This record gives sequence, structure tokens and C-alpha cells, in this order.
Amino acid sequence: MEQKYQVHRGLYDVIKTLEEQPLMKMMADWLGGVFSAVDEGKPILFNQFTIFSELMVAMDIQPLSPELWQVVSLQLNPNACCESIDAAQDAGIHPELCSANKAIIGDIMLDKIPPPSMVVLPTFPCDNSKITYQTLGYLTGAPTYFLDCPYWMDEKEAMDYWTNQFRGLISFLEENTGKKMDYDRLTEVVEESNRCIDYWLEGVELLKLQPLPLNGPFTSGYLAGLTSLGLPAATAAVKASRDDLIARLDKQETAVAEEKARVIWFYYPVFWDGGLTPWMAEIGAVIPVGLVGYYNAEPIDTTSPETIIRGLAQRGLQSPMGKQGRGASELWIDDCLHAVDQWKGDCVILASHPGCKWLRGCYGLFRDIARERGIPVMVYDVDLFDPRLTSAEESRARIEQFLTTVVFK
Ligand code: SF4
Repeated sequence: MEQKYQVHRGLYDVIKTLEEQPLMKMMADWLGGVFSAVDEGKPILFNQFTIFSELMVAMDIQPLSPELWQVVSLQLNPNACCESIDAAQDAGIHPELCSANKAIIGDIMLDKIPPPSMVVLPTFPCDNSKITYQTLGYLTGAPTYFLDCPYWMDEKEAMDYWTNQFRGLISFLEENTGKKMDYDRLTEVVEESNRCIDYWLEGVELLKLQPLPLNGPFTSGYLAGLTSLGLPAATAAVKASRDDLIARLDKQETAVAEEKARVIWFYYPVFWDGGLTPWMAEIGAVIPVGLVGYYNAEPIDTTSPETIIRGLAQRGLQSPMGKQGRGASELWIDDCLHAVDQWKGDCVILASHPGCKWLRGCYGLFRDIARERGIPVMVYDVDLFDPRLTSAEESRARIEQFLTTVVFK
């Protein structure tokens, strides 16, 4: 019988031969865990792209972030999501839905992603995600748990309410797996994730240096968060990324020979266009930070189950895009301005992904503020999961024109 998920299985076969590289080992372990769960009939939990893995790791439940599943396939084929996007639209999903979300629905319809046994997401960052994950629950029958986040988090009661959502999540996982949370194991997992996040924060800090030792953003921490945060392999992967930066600094190596512009790309990368960032570096434009590499979190106090659950809830408010997408536009705008200031940005380039309507609204407000402060901004239409809107050549032409006429001295 033909095996399913051939693209991802093929990639897994390749990257598991590269396991001496800690980042590859982490990704191979994650994909291998997904296939073991499929082959052995074990539960798979769809964790939306702002939900990190510690509770799943502690309960030995396999996380599968559907967005990351797509990003993986786009590294092999820029058109990898098109078939699923079209299938979702043909089935009646409205075209205005974010292409990432259409692709997930299409993937389920076309049997291109293992179906979930459980679905977990917060009520941020967008309506697209909320309706999509409800649709996934409907299509697969998987029980779905929403972590309901208050709009404002400035009162203790709001934090208490949010922390209760995490207690509810643990009950949900227990009910749907028949397992009980082992709090000694959760303590170990969270201590491990504290170590990992320390390395992540160090890596993010090192990219503030000028000139940049290595082109950013620092993404390994986010990959760890979605796949295996709390396991030693994740800590090793993020530590290796941090160590790489330190080694380059020691040897006085820089990302490019001449740093002509530091670009704050305060959104996700164009996932199907892996060559875009290296091409920008070739013309002297480096990216010290992006939304994925913009992260800050406190260590979690592991003295009791209560402190751990509260710490996980607090950290759950910090995930990339989750932090900025919880309410008022200022959350994203203030972080983008902070990124320009701290990572010494010369300009901001904003990919305007058609489905991301809340963020496109922020872009308009941000542009007015940036104009007053003299920060050059380029906003351009490009779909992160579908190359049919704006080609790689068009992206390069637009970006080059902006950089050479407005930014390069
Ligand atoms: S890209 Fe925007 S609209 Fe799409 S899932 Fe992410 S936050 Fe939501």
C-alpha cells in the first residue's frame, strides 16, 4: 500500500541523515514523532502556530503545527500549498481567508496532513485562525480547545482568568488521552524549556550587534517552541544556533562584507521564497530581527504546579504573533518601533499578506507614525504561502528599487 505524506516522509529521510546538526536532529525527531504516531495510531495534537509544546511533551502527546507542516513542504516546492488552497476554495471556503488557513483545510480534505486527535488554539491572533480550527474540528471530529484570552491583560483578574484557561487545557488533554498529568515530569520539562529559552534570548540579543555576525532572524527558538520545547534535543538545537553566533563573533565574521542596510522585516518570511533573504544579503541588506525572532520571556518558576501553570500562561502571551495579535493595534506597532530602535533598523519592509487583514490595518497606522519619525517603510503585496500573487522576481524588483532609491546611502 502506498504510504501517505510522501513529501514529508522524503524530507524526513534526508534530514535524519544530518542528525549531527542539532537543528536537523530536532526537526527530524519532530517529523519522526509525527510518523510514529500515525503508524502506531497514537494521538496527534494540532497546535496552532502560537501554542508551544511543553504540556504536550510532558504528557507524551505528539504536537503537529499545521502551519509548520506547510512551511516544511514549501522549502521543497514553492507551489506546495496551491493544490490545497484551491481545493478549499472549490469546496466553498471564501477566498478572502488567509492562504495558510485555506491550505490547512485543503490538506485535511486531500489527506495531505495526518488528521488530529485534538486541536488546541488561543483566541488570538486572528479570526482566520479561529474559524479555520473550528472547521478542522468539524471536518475531523477532533475535540477542539480554545484558550480564551482577555482583550486587556492589565488587571490581575485577567491574568487569573487566562491562567485558568491553561488549567482547563490540562483537563482537556487528560480527558482526551486518558492520561494524568505527572507534575514531576512537567517540572523537568519546564526546567528544560527554561534552559532552551535562555539560549533563544541570547541569540536574539546577539543579533543586535553591528555589523551583524550572521543574517537573521534568529528562528531556531520558535521552531523549538512549535515542535519540542522541553526536550533536550530542542535545547541543543537552540544552543547550537547561539554557539554559531558566538563562534562567528570570535572569528570576527560578519553576515555580509558591507552592511548597507538593516531591514526590520516585522512579519513572517515569505515561506515559499527561501532565496529572498540571501538575495537581499547579496545586495547588502541584512535582517537582524523579524517577528519570528522577536521574543522575550521570563523563566518559569518551577517551585509548584501552580507557579508552573501560571508561568506557562504568562509565556503563552509572548509567542511571536501571539503577543502582537491579542488586541489593540498598538501591541504590534509598539513592538515594531521597539525592534527598529533596538536592532538599529534603517528601514522596515512589511509583506502585506492578503488574508492577514488585522495586520494590514496595523500597517496603515504604522506608516503614519513611521513617516513622522523618519523611518523609511515599504509595504508590498505578497502571499506568504502562495507564489501566484507576486512572483519572486517581482518581490526582488520592488525591494531593490526601495532599498536603492530610499535606504542605501
Ligand atoms: S498570516 Fe495573519 S491571517 Fe494568516 S494565520 Fe497568521 S495571523 Fe492569521
